[in-house]
Amino acid sequence: MPADHPTAGLASPLDQSTQALKGVSPARFEQLRRLGLVTVRDLLFHFPRSYEDLTDVRPIAGLSAEAIQTVQGEVVEIGGKRLPDGRPVVSVVLCDDGKHCLEGIWFNQPYASSRFRYGQRLSFSGKPKWFRDHWTMTHPRVQPLDSDTPADGQGIVPIYPLTEDLKSEQLRPLIRRAVEQFALHVVEVLPPEMRLRRALPDVQKALRDLHFPLALADAEAARRRFVFEEFLILQLALALRRRELRDRQRAPVLAVTPAIDARIRRLFAFQLTNDQNQAVADICRDLASERPMQRLLQADVGAGKTAVAVYALLAAVANKHQAVLAAPTEVLARQHWNTLEGYLSASKVRRLLLTGGKSTRERRAALNALRAGEVDLVVGTQALMQEDVQFARLGLVVIDEQHKFGVNQRARVRMLGVDPHYLVMTATPIPRTLALTVFGDLDTTTIREQPPGRQPVQTRWATAKQRDRVYDKLREGLAAGRQAFLVCPLVAESEKLDLKAAEKTYEEMRDGPFRDARVGLLHGRLQEKEKDAVMDRFRAGAIDLLVCTSVVEVGVDVPNATLLVVEHAERFGLSQLHQMRGRVCRGPVAGECYVFADPTSEDARQRIRAFVKTTDGFALAEQDAKLRGIGELFGTHQHGGGDLRVGDLSADAAILREARKDAFAIVTADAGLRWPEHELLRKVVLDRYGRTLDLAQIG
Ligand code: ADP
Ligand code: MG
Repeated sequence: MPADHPTAGLASPLDQSTQALKGVSPARFEQLRRLGLVTVRDLLFHFPRSYEDLTDVRPIAGLSAEAIQTVQGEVVEIGGKRLPDGRPVVSVVLCDDGKHCLEGIWFNQPYASSRFRYGQRLSFSGKPKWFRDHWTMTHPRVQPLDSDTPADGQGIVPIYPLTEDLKSEQLRPLIRRAVEQFALHVVEVLPPEMRLRRALPDVQKALRDLHFPLALADAEAARRRFVFEEFLILQLALALRRRELRDRQRAPVLAVTPAIDARIRRLFAFQLTNDQNQAVADICRDLASERPMQRLLQADVGAGKTAVAVYALLAAVANKHQAVLAAPTEVLARQHWNTLEGYLSASKVRRLLLTGGKSTRERRAALNALRAGEVDLVVGTQALMQEDVQFARLGLVVIDEQHKFGVNQRARVRMLGVDPHYLVMTATPIPRTLALTVFGDLDTTTIREQPPGRQPVQTRWATAKQRDRVYDKLREGLAAGRQAFLVCPLVAESEKLDLKAAEKTYEEMRDGPFRDARVGLLHGRLQEKEKDAVMDRFRAGAIDLLVCTSVVEVGVDVPNATLLVVEHAERFGLSQLHQMRGRVCRGPVAGECYVFADPTSEDARQRIRAFVKTTDGFALAEQDAKLRGIGELFGTHQHGGGDLRVGDLSADAAILREARKDAFAIVTADAGLRWPEHELLRKVVLDRYGRTLDLAQIG
């Protein structure tokens, strides 16, 4: 491998400090460092956020009001004034050879006028706007026409992400120097055949075109190349991991006989839906193989995935193996525990609830029992996932709400020698492209169908004026024996954010509109014991109105609670809102949901509108992904499933699919990535994902 390859460590000239470049003073170095740009490589791979196309030069008479355009002319007027609100405005009029004029305008920059001289020949670039009787540009980019300064800032200008105190104008020449001197040291990792087939420019051309394109199409092709590379590496890691899990590991064969099947189904008070039966069939097929199941079960809220999980757990136990159900929160773990208790009260299955709240002695006793095989079924939180937990005969691990856990933790629940089957569940429908990345090594089963008799939750966006009306509705519902959630975004009132805090709202409700009802309070800062106590009382019907934070977001199941009010709904994500609404669709009475919201952005407004309009969680998840970007939505970074720097899972979905296809094809043909043309890829994959995805033994 060449010494200057990205993974070769400090031997590469690319790993030199940025100070190796002309023009990087200690002060500049410090500025760059604060942006995370320490080495020459960092600079080379500091990709533009966007470009300004200043090649569209027009006569002023030929301007139009859509895109960025450039005009050239002579300064004929320099003026300044104050707006009625006191803000200073500087105005500079530029006239071109056709004697048409355009006014450049600067707000709040009283000294802007000192940059200009009468008669100076300049170009202004920006979005033109027609104002009364002439064209204007607000804060245009200004370039002297008669200077021979280099081309940075002309033509197609790269715009770099947030630079704090460092201006793009200062960054550009440094990056140009880095590209000119060092691009040739960057080693190509993509095999030539693949580059040809996918029409991707080689890495050196791509670096040039990315930072200093001659045409926007070149910049786009360059970006595409790096996105492809990034996705390819991630997908190779997933393909390798999948292969490793399948080919190397051996799980216990858990056969579900008709007798076992009948015994499990007897525990349910209902018939499984078709989708649930399909999920059960998928799972049984997986369990009957000695390849460990790696399955993702996704279902809209309330669609009954817990019931499917219970089936799987009992199937493992019936085969004399231990089974684990892990939940992301104490509240949810306890709820699963209660559900299981409901199903299993008369059975001989030995059960254990393992949460963080246990004393050291209790925990040690519990661990001993697990190790000795004296427990069949254990329900718990992350506390379960710790290294010191060992099992006698672990057969199955079910992880609920996987997206709250992170991929890495999957790797942690391990038994000596044998790997258990894994079932991963999520109630947040996962946009397809994300499913291909974070969950790209899993098989997927989807439950779309809701159990019979479910009615869609009536959702309304209520205005402040309708508040009393909403309270009336709520009181009517409570009087009829129903229960309600009132969700607030924060726990304690903060001065900065004037949000309805749970504590304050609780007091207001208790002493005001709901003084005749039993009002409870639940939020994340309560002790576990208190949380449990409140939830137990709510479940038992001893609390009518539960004021809470989004701790109810995930999985709380109280069928009699059919009313939901959300304060400051604009503060919640769409999926979060949908999860909350999922709490009130479980009973025989149609749920009602009221949201109060003051969206200040168009995104927030669209979110609330979408939420009110549909109750389809899959549609909402796609919408949310579009509005917020998938990375933010699922915190992709935490998953080790892709610290994506260049690619965007929504916008680049097509590239992702191509990269995935190529990656899986490579691993099918060359499982160890041992062919010479894959050697560099192998290094990069191991370097980037080897640890997080536990790929140590590839090849
Ligand atoms: P999820 O975990 O997908 O949100 P649950 O498994 O908790 O859904 O089920 C939600 C509710 O629906 C529970 O009260 C459960 O008892 C009930 N349920 C599940 N499956 C069925 C079914 N096939 N028919 C009727 N009710 C069901
Ligand atoms: Mg559930």
